[in-house]
Order: sequence, then C-alpha cells, then structure tokens
Amino acid sequence: AVKRTPFIAGNWKMNLDHLQAVAFTQKLAWSLKDAKHDPADAEVAVFPPFTDIRSVQTLVSADSLPIAYGAQDLSANDSGAYTGEISGAFLAKLECAYVIIGHSERRTLHGETDADVNAKVRAAHRHGIVPVVCVGETAEDLEAHGPSAVPVAQLRAALDGVDASKGLVIAYEPVWAIGSGQAATPQQAEQVCGAIRDLLREVFGEDVAAATRVLYGGSVKAANIASFLREPNIDGALVGGASLDIDEFSSIVRFKK
Ligand code: PEP
Repeated sequence: AVKRTPFIAGNWKMNLDHLQAVAFTQKLAWSLKDAKHDPADAEVAVFPPFTDIRSVQTLVSADSLPIAYGAQDLSANDSGAYTGEISGAFLAKLECAYVIIGHSERRTLHGETDADVNAKVRAAHRHGIVPVVCVGETAEDLEAHGPSAVPVAQLRAALDGVDASKGLVIAYEPVWAIGSGQAATPQQAEQVCGAIRDLLREVFGEDVAAATRVLYGGSVKAANIASFLREPNIDGALVGGASLDIDEFSSIVRFKK
C-alpha cells in the first residue's frame, strides 16, 4: 500500500500579524526540535494571512525549518485589474507549497461557487502550488441529503478538468463542525473521507486515489486528533482555532506520542 504522510495544517484565518507570526513560527520550530519531530510522522504546515507569508518564508528558509506554509486563498487570475486580489504567481515567488481553496468561509462570506473553486485549483496548478481543496456540508445539507452527497458533488465540480499529477490535498470540513466545538465523530468523518477517496478513484484512477491525502477539519484539538488519524481514509487535519495556541498545536502535531 502507498504510504501517505500525515498532514497537519494550521489555518490561522485572519489572526496573527506578521510580528506574531514570526514569534509563533519560532515557537513551533523549537517545539518540533524539542520533540525530535520526525517529518515522516507528520508534515506540518501553517497558513498565515497574506501579509505574514514573507516573514514566515524568511524564517523557514534561513533555518531550513521543517514547516511548510501556504496561503488561505488565491485569485483565479494571474495578473491584471483585480484590485485587492493575490495571484498564484506571487505566492509561488514566496515559495508557498500549498494554498487553501474553497474554505467554507470563502464560500459563505464571499459567495465563492464550485466554478470559482475549480478556476482557483487550476490557477494554483499553473504556478506549481498544491491546492488544499475544502468541501463540506451544512447542517441543513446533512439533514436533506445525508452525509456524503454535498461534499462529493462539490469535489467533483472542483476537480473538473484538473490534472491530479500536479498535486492535490482534499479537506473534508463539515460546516457544522467548524469553530463549533462539536467535531464530527471519527466514524462520520471516515465515511465521508472514504466517499471522497472513491470519487478520486473514479475520476483519476487508483494510483491518485491511493496517493492523495484527505484531511478532516472541524473542531480538531489535541484531545481528538489521534481518533481521526486512526481511521484508514483520514490522512491528517486542517485545524482552525486550535492552530493559534502553540501548546495545543504542538500537541496535535505530536498525535503519535
Ligand atoms: C477551519 O476553519 O478550517 C477549521 C477546521 O476550524 P476549527 O478547527 O476552528 O473548527
């Protein structure tokens, strides 16, 4: 079987200015060092606000820290008259390995559609950045359509015409579990992550399905991370609130210990 390195990603959302980001990244680096963190046990990534990325890049590259980083969004366009937008070309210059696309807050607060998400996935790939594609159902969707229908439909649309060889990470984030303190159960999350892997198999074939990391997100914390990682189709977590607390995030990263 293909080994998928667990992926622990912190989505800072609109928190931590660039000075706080530097302090946090240094503490995270010390904590990884103290714990003798083995990158084979988990790939650790942070997703700071755009204005912090240059500072994080400088720290990470100066000391070759075992911390990946990326942006929380990007423009579907590469350059031009798009006031306030950030291009994948700029993110690539800052050596972002990843970019979160289609987070539920982008979908609800900024009206992003499945077509927008698809265009952004293609934009990330044009610049050699691996998209972390977020999908998930609301409580109403769950009630009306059951657990997997909405996230799988969102993902099918997001991946239309996409070249998976350019890299993909999927994050299943039930909207009702985000920031609510009420995580999905590992069994619920596994069911949907399994359906997501089935879709990857259908669209891209067995090799891509076996190699692609599928994350769970929604009220993940140190106390529940191991229960999710024990499930066969869950390969890591996208962590919001708990990624801002250095002790909590460090414990999440050490889920194996
Ligand atoms: C998120 O918004 O990606 C998230 C999972 O948030 P939280 O961990 O705070 O539920």
